[in-house]
Formats: sequence, C-alpha cells, structure tokens
Amino acid sequence: MGKMGHMLNEPTISSNGVVRPTAVTVNLSRITENYRGIETAVSPAKVMTVLKANAYGHGLIDIAKHVTTLGVPYIGVAFLEEGILLREAGIETPILVMGGILGNQIPLFLQHNLTLTASSVDKLSQIDKAAAEMGVTAKIHLKIDTGMERIGVHYYSADTLLEAALTCPHCHVEGIYTHFANADAADLTSARLQLERFNQVLSFYEKRGIPRPPLCHTANSGAILQLPEAHFDMVRAGIVLYGVYPSAEVRQTIPVRPALSWTSHVVYFKVVKPDHPVSYGSTWQTDHMVRVVTVPVGYGDGYFRSMSNRAEVIIRGKRYPMVGRVCMDQIMINIEWDSAYNDDKVILIGESGEAAIRCEDLAEWANTIPYEILTNINTRVPRIYMIDD
Ligand SMILES: *Cc1c(COP(=O)(O)O)cnc(C)c1O
Repeated sequence: MGKMGHMLNEPTISSNGVVRPTAVTVNLSRITENYRGIETAVSPAKVMTVLKANAYGHGLIDIAKHVTTLGVPYIGVAFLEEGILLREAGIETPILVMGGILGNQIPLFLQHNLTLTASSVDKLSQIDKAAAEMGVTAKIHLKIDTGMERIGVHYYSADTLLEAALTCPHCHVEGIYTHFANADAADLTSARLQLERFNQVLSFYEKRGIPRPPLCHTANSGAILQLPEAHFDMVRAGIVLYGVYPSAEVRQTIPVRPALSWTSHVVYFKVVKPDHPVSYGSTWQTDHMVRVVTVPVGYGDGYFRSMSNRAEVIIRGKRYPMVGRVCMDQIMINIEWDSAYNDDKVILIGESGEAAIRCEDLAEWANTIPYEILTNINTRVPRIYMIDD
C-alpha cells in the first residue's frame, strides 16, 4: 500500500479463532483524498457518494461511516435494502435509492426516510397516496430517461411527470435527474445529446416561471471527469470515489488512487516435474521442472475463473503467472526457480514497490470491466480498514 498505515479493525475471525489469510484491505485515507479531489473539481456542485453493491466491494457500512465523517451531503444506493441497512447502522445522511421501486416497498422507504426515485406518473401517484396514508411527506427525485432506456420517464414525455409532481401535496420534489449511457467514452456525442435532452426537460420550469427542484443531477464518474457542463447541483461519484477510472478511454482530469487491495498468503509449496499438468482440466502443464505455490483464493471469493492461465500475482515484489484453472478456493502460481515460502504475502490487487496489479488488469484478464471485479469480491473475504499515518 506504499506508505505505512495502521489498521482500524481486526480482520474477521471465525468462531474457532482462525484469521483467514485472504483479505481485502481498504485504505480509507485514499477514499478521503479521492473525495476531496472530486469535491474541489466539481465545486460548487455537491458530491453524492454512491455506495451501492457493498460500496463497490469495499464494505457498505464501513464506507458509509467513513464518508459520513467527511461530511458528504448525500449517499446514493441502488436498492431499498441497501438504504435500510444504512439506516439500521445509524447513518442519518440523506440517501437516494436510484433503482426502480415496487408499490409495496413505498411504506418502507417512508419509514426509513429514504429518498425515492419517481420514474413514472403512476409510481409518483402511488408514492403520494402512501405518504398521505402515513401522514408524512415523501422526499422524491424525478427520473428522466434521456437515452439509457433503463428507468425513468422518456425525455419527450417528461412534462407529464413534472406537471403531475406539481400537484402531489404529500411529495417534496427535492431533485430531478438522468443517467448517461456513454459519459466515460472518448466520443462524447451521445452524452452531449442526452445532456441537451435533459436541459430541454428542465426548461419546463423556466417556461412556467417556477423554480426547478434544488437538486438537478446527471453526472456519474465519466461525466464528473469529462463533462463539467453536466455537474449541475450535485454529481454522483461511484467508481472514481474508490480511485478507479470508469474506462480506459476516459480523460483522467481528477487524480485518484485506488483504495482497495486484495492479498493472500502462500499456503503450499512444491516442485512440479516436467510434463505434469496443473489443476482441473489439465489446461496447463510443465515442460521443465518448476516451483509452484498454492494460494487460498478462488472463484468462490470472486476471483474470476475466466482469469485461468491469464492472471498474475505479486510475490516478494515480483510478478508471476497463475497457471491452470482457477479453482473455487485455490489458485496455483508458477514461480519458476525463484524462492517463496509458506505464509509469504501474495498480492492479487495492489502495489509492492515498483510492481502493481490494478483491478483494471484483472478486468482485462477476465474480459470484463473494473466495476465487475470490485463488486464480485464477496463477503467470504474479510475487509480490513486502515488509514495512512
Ligand atoms: C451506479 C450509478 C452511478 C455511479 O456510477 P459510476 O460510473 O460508478 O460513477 C451514478 N448514477 C446512477 C443512477 C447509478 O446507477
């Protein structure tokens, strides 16, 4: 992790007192730095921190508690369940649930003071009705579909939703938003078209001479980095908060550094004779005598099987190839004729002196995107939190 830091918690210990040798370490100082960098770059717009999918694998509750200490004005999640978990953990920051909602979920949203996404006239009236029945005011953000075709009222018929929202006495329309499909691309034509459509929708308020909702927001990480005209009142910082860029092409206009590293330890050492295959399916075999070590991590932790015979790890500051198929719980590393010992640290994602393996590397080996690498590291892997000294 470069600089020395100190741990904030003990890694999860099982009932028999054993610490798992495979763990994710999250450097909260990096989250702080990334957040401050984004905040400065988009000011005066506010920064919503997006904590869906277990905070992109970093740990929902711990990251929420940390960003709360930074004074974040808003938290974004995908699902109701994530919002409830945050409230149950004592998080009082406003929380927007960005996903689609079902009618029977509305009372739970209201009970937990979660901000709802109203993505159609029908959903809006269901929210207003439920709020009336409960005697509360629902906090809502209107969702406009400007080209993603996921959720939201289409930009060309958005007036009906904006109009309806003016006559919902039990709803407080705090925000209005849209989501980009291609804001992290090199070519921003599509994002600019979506932005233009969103601006068109907002002109509804000017035409009526009424103020628009106080929180207009459109920007995900891609637009935070390369579309300043899309920052409006607030941006929604997801992957960039964790120090990872949303794509290889995106302009890296804000410097951020990854907060997450993933490490394990050598649990077995052996010499493999020539012409002996390694792992399931015998997809790799030696043609000369080599030393192979076994590491206790596998696809059952989210270390993708599609990285078989492609991934590399760092041991003692040097990169080595993973050989044979990734098993559910173990992988094998060819260290040729170098030395490695039981309990040596193995870096799956992270830095060691000059050597570094980034989640972008794993994404390439697994033929996916960094988002999927991060969100797939599952709960079998303990999370350790540290801060720089
Ligand atoms: C996930 C999500 C974001 C964050 O996206 P990043 O690319 O990770 O910044 C923002 N807005 C919505 C609606 C999302 O679903």
